[in-house]
Amino acid sequence: MTVTAPAEDMPAAPAGGRPVLTVSLAAVGWNYRTLRETAPNAEVAAVVKADAYGLGLAPIAGKLKSAGCNTFFVATLDEGFALRALVGGTPRIFVLNGLAPGAAPAFASYNLAPVLNSLAEIREWADFGRRPAALQIDTGMSRAGLSPDELSALAADAALLARLDLALILSHLAHGDEAASSANAAQRRRFRDALARLPAAPASLAASGGIFLGPEYHFDLVRPGIALYGGNPLAAGESPVRPAVTLTAEILGLRTIARGETAGYGGTFIAARDTLLAVCNIGYADGLPRALSNKGIAYLGGTPCPYAGRVSMDLLTLDVTAAPESERQRGATVEIIGPGMPLEELARRADTVNYEILTGLGARFTRLVLDSHWSRVV
Ligand SMILES: *Cc1c(COP(=O)(O)O)cnc(C)c1O
Repeated sequence: MTVTAPAEDMPAAPAGGRPVLTVSLAAVGWNYRTLRETAPNAEVAAVVKADAYGLGLAPIAGKLKSAGCNTFFVATLDEGFALRALVGGTPRIFVLNGLAPGAAPAFASYNLAPVLNSLAEIREWADFGRRPAALQIDTGMSRAGLSPDELSALAADAALLARLDLALILSHLAHGDEAASSANAAQRRRFRDALARLPAAPASLAASGGIFLGPEYHFDLVRPGIALYGGNPLAAGESPVRPAVTLTAEILGLRTIARGETAGYGGTFIAARDTLLAVCNIGYADGLPRALSNKGIAYLGGTPCPYAGRVSMDLLTLDVTAAPESERQRGATVEIIGPGMPLEELARRADTVNYEILTGLGARFTRLVLDSHWSRVV
């Protein structure tokens, strides 16, 4: 269920027993503008793969398009189809995972441009006709893109190059979130060398983290994803962007257990004193990592409440003993992600990253998409 709430309302959990995910489009717009100011001489594209990192492709693409974004990246052809239907014919759409065998006609019919990641893809695309595509060079990820040998073969093949319409040449940093890593400068050097061996084309190296490495990483176009969605793109230090997501759950019921009693599967929580437990309507089927068992903290009012025992599929048990009695009530809202428990802190406690939490967010939430300033949250 998706509800678009009116301006300024901080949503109350609607009845129905679902956790509530709120997405602030205002924050996404603010983040897009911040990235533009940080890379003023480059075009700022948007990476909206994986349903806009779990926030919802339709509202996010609409917001970014109205903020002036004219180039989008998705991971797969299907995501490209969906995005083309949402943004209309004008914006450029690049498909990062490249050209699957036989897929060229489908790309062309939706006016999608593949990111060509190998010589085989390059030849197949060129055989189909001279149409715009991006070319990815691997400068240190050992993932997608031309290897050094493939780059040499392409650079030496003038006939093949003449059959390509290179709309963009890109590469991807392995340490873009680590300002101090010397690997970044090494990749930038390899990227410059590659560009010098290829026909002139617009170039792109930086994703979210790379944008904050400085102007020498910006080239002609930058490709942020996580920073648009309010995830801190820097491994260390204060976030330059605003959170765009909150997640709340609801207390379904309360019970007291005595010292020595256990809670949850496996009995991994053992009460050290008489303990008040609150059972909440969220679990790992909603994308709340089971790794948070006995490690997560939720907020009830202003009180931190530890996860008690294992996270189960549909339910989460909290130790709410420390919360004021007025707060620990059936139907009360608990904050899972928000000002008390930022996305990055939740991810750290789950031994993962903000990207995985966002893209894992489930389909069972009530989703509130807000397009105004969210003063109580941001
Ligand atoms: C996912 C991805 C991005 C966006 O990365 P963020 O770290 O989310 O900004 C950019 N470029 C490529 C090649 C990607 O795979």
